Amino acid sequence: VAAPETALPTLRGAVAGLPSYVPGRRGTGADIAALASNESHYDPLPAAVAAVAEAAGRMNRYPDMAAVELRERLARHLGVTAEEVAVGPGSVGVLQQIITGLCDAGDEVVFAWRSFEAYPILVELAGARPVRVPLDDSEGHDLEAMAAAVTDRTKVLLLCTPNNPTGVPISHGRLEAFLQSVRSDILVVIDEAYVEYADAGSGPDSLALYRRYPNVCILRTFSKAYGLAGLRVGYAITTAAIADGLRRTALPFAVSALAQKAAIASLDAGEEMEARVSAVKQERARMAAELAAQGWTLQPSQGNFLWIRADDALLARLVDAFDHAGILVRAYPGDGVRITVADPASNNRVLRLLEAHAA
Ligand code: PMP
Repeated sequence: VAAPETALPTLRGAVAGLPSYVPGRRGTGADIAALASNESHYDPLPAAVAAVAEAAGRMNRYPDMAAVELRERLARHLGVTAEEVAVGPGSVGVLQQIITGLCDAGDEVVFAWRSFEAYPILVELAGARPVRVPLDDSEGHDLEAMAAAVTDRTKVLLLCTPNNPTGVPISHGRLEAFLQSVRSDILVVIDEAYVEYADAGSGPDSLALYRRYPNVCILRTFSKAYGLAGLRVGYAITTAAIADGLRRTALPFAVSALAQKAAIASLDAGEEMEARVSAVKQERARMAAELAAQGWTLQPSQGNFLWIRADDALLARLVDAFDHAGILVRAYPGDGVRITVADPASNNRVLRLLEAHAA
């Protein structure tokens, strides 16, 4: 028998051309400051650690695929029904379910750019078309331009508030006007990964908007303020019909029992989380004031990070300096650098370094 042709399996075109998600560099050395991924620098909440330890004793069993207890706890916390909540392996996992659940090949997903780098990847993976709308001069969403980018192929509009990486929120009034102007059959996803860090009133009251505009879908996560980035749990608040669809597109058992139990314990420890958040916000304000005094021009950030716009020459100098100092930050070629706000000692290292590079 002749040997068959030795052609090897190939990836489909959309996958072969996919940009890769480049995670923030990880570092655990004593003198490394890990400020590249907007994680919480605090140790996990003790109640979450205890819940994980308890759940670990049953990890020979599959988790509750419907995450009933977590969804009911979230529903109580948010003032919605459990039917309106879908959970997934991180909010990025939920977002993948949203995009694959709504988009056929060639459909369009409109989002601001620059924003969270997973957006174009998830859209292309689904065979849909990413439509990037540049941020406005104040590094915020240009909602008028986003509305103008809508076509009859648009299925999803992705908004990020406060925006990663710029920290700029979308105001409630502007978002409501936007919702009035867009077709009601387009799902408007409001990605609020950093909402706990936003000052009251700076961004939208997304739950109120959801109640009035059922095409709104709110996306949140336990990865940031709640400090569970390593456990992978996020959720969407959306109509019961969409939430049901998302649950049916989910990878079976994607959210572990450890993650579900830790998320419930974290919601129960809300006050402790809020105290941590307010310490980070104080540090954010202190850093912003000091950087302004050094001569840096920054948009006020409502996330747990600061954004410094930089041309490539400045960016190269900063990246080099941060590298030498053992400070891991996130550089965006052509745009700038994002630095997570963490403990005062790490923040002081950032301030001293930037002082040496101020204009
Ligand atoms: N949305 C935004 C805006 C983010 O910055 C991130 C994490 N970097 C996510 C979603 C995803 O977070 P997770 O999957 O950990 O919930």
